[in-house]
Amino acid sequence: MIAFLLSLLTGVSAAASAAGTSACSNITSQLGSSKVTSNKYSLDYVGSTEYWNTIQDDYKPSCIVYPKNAQDVSTALQAIRAADSRFAIKAGGHNPNTYYSSVDKGVLLDLSSMTERSYDPDTTLATYQPGGVFGDIYDYYVQYNRTVVGARLAGVGTGLALGGGMSYLSPQYGMACDSFRELEIVLPSGEIVTASEKSNPDLFFASRGGGGNAYGVVTKYTVQSRPIGQLYAGNIIYLFSQKDDVISAIGDFIKYNTDPKAAIIGTYEKLPTPDLNLNIDEAIIMFLVYDGENPGDAFKNFTSIPSLLNTMSLKTYPEVVDMPIPMSTELSRGSNMFRVGVHRADNGSYENALDVWRNWAESNKGKYVLLSLDFQPVPKSLTDASKAQGGNAMQMPDGPWFWLNYLITTPPGMSEPDYNAVQASYRDMVASVDNADDLPLFINDANHDQNPLQTFSAFSKLQEIKKKYDPDNFFADKTGGWSFA
Ligand SMILES: Cc1cc2nc3c(=O)[nH]c(=O)nc-3n(C[C@H](O)[C@H](O)[C@H](O)COP(=O)(O)OP(=O)(O)OC[C@H]3O[C@@H](n4cnc5c(N)ncnc54)[C@H](O)[C@@H]3O)c2cc1C
Repeated sequence: MIAFLLSLLTGVSAAASAAGTSACSNITSQLGSSKVTSNKYSLDYVGSTEYWNTIQDDYKPSCIVYPKNAQDVSTALQAIRAADSRFAIKAGGHNPNTYYSSVDKGVLLDLSSMTERSYDPDTTLATYQPGGVFGDIYDYYVQYNRTVVGARLAGVGTGLALGGGMSYLSPQYGMACDSFRELEIVLPSGEIVTASEKSNPDLFFASRGGGGNAYGVVTKYTVQSRPIGQLYAGNIIYLFSQKDDVISAIGDFIKYNTDPKAAIIGTYEKLPTPDLNLNIDEAIIMFLVYDGENPGDAFKNFTSIPSLLNTMSLKTYPEVVDMPIPMSTELSRGSNMFRVGVHRADNGSYENALDVWRNWAESNKGKYVLLSLDFQPVPKSLTDASKAQGGNAMQMPDGPWFWLNYLITTPPGMSEPDYNAVQASYRDMVASVDNADDLPLFINDANHDQNPLQTFSAFSKLQEIKKKYDPDNFFADKTGGWSFA
């Protein structure tokens, strides 16, 4: 029986491998060998198979394709379809869910060579291809004293905007996807189309925060750019003994801040080192950003709490997205997984989540190398800005409310049963903190099993759009991604 099952599995794996190889040779003959590599020892191949969740670094795609434009993507998708191969679309590679932007024995479409960018001073629209990380894109637009709404860390890729995209500028301008004005998209059929309010508006709606790798491959983003100058910003680091004061300052900020130029992330961090009462195994790091030189009293509740370190000062935008230290995205690579929660700003909701998380952290030492719990406010100014630009796939109810991001980094080399057990335990801990049932879970911070699309009030509309643009389930069956079931 075991031999039979093994032969079945080996057969499936051999078929997957053959399909990948067939797709790759077809793509190479059409695009040329300069845009495709199958050499597992080449620098390109090794670089392309590095992920923020390093569990995926072991996957071995049959080849990696580096398209330069929409036509290349279309050619590749049609060859993948003809060969019945699996595939993945990778921008920055930060989605920690396996097989979302990674693939084993299939075709990896690595968008990193698509780095054309331009700015139209007459319309103030910015157009960029999906290659490179947001830090590169911000650096490009600084020459015009403009920026785009994107990641809060320089190293994150452009797939962020397809999952909504929370920026330090979001309280002013909405989510990153709210600034979309026109997208060039290669559909699962290989057809190249434009999506905007006027052209394929349903596809445009779904692409604004309804997730990547579902409706097609976005090959060009045209977005409303935003003015940017000096910002008053920095990190404040506190001992954990200040946790109650900091949590009530976070709660007050979520509930009462009305200045859309002020943005925060509150992060509680836990290392698994023995406590020894030295206070070295946990800390609180606030990220405070004001889009302007004078924050007034916006951060007074935070600056008045005694802290270990305060780096608040005037900064450029590229400096702000390098907080707390440059390369922090790259340095935090590891066996990482996210989970998300969503809550109204009711009294007690912050404290409860923090207590549950900390109790789990205390009783599971040794099973993680890093835990963090991040508070991300969604103010009314953000949801108003979203609505004013047509609204996104989340159809965000009026703020204030907040998302919680739960990160767990497990130790390298953990056995599979131990890994599965700790992930299940972390999942149960997060699930024990009740979510608000009328608010959307944030795709960008969600675990695959949280099915975030199902929490969107527009879910059935998204299901119809998915069916229309992926009618024979090519993407649904052949690449990873959120469930539409
Ligand atoms: C260190 C760190 C910091 C973060 N900070 C923020 C933040 O400030 N704000 C925020 O909102 N989120 C943040 N996130 C979450 C982040 O938005 C998600 O991880 C997002 O998936 C990253 O996009 P990516 O391009 O780097 O990843 P990828 O894994 O390459 O892409 C994400 C998903 O989109 C798909 N995709 C990517 N590009 C395309 C395309 N052009 N067409 C179709 N599908 C595509 C991929 O297949 C994948 O499923 C952060 C994540 C990390 C790890």
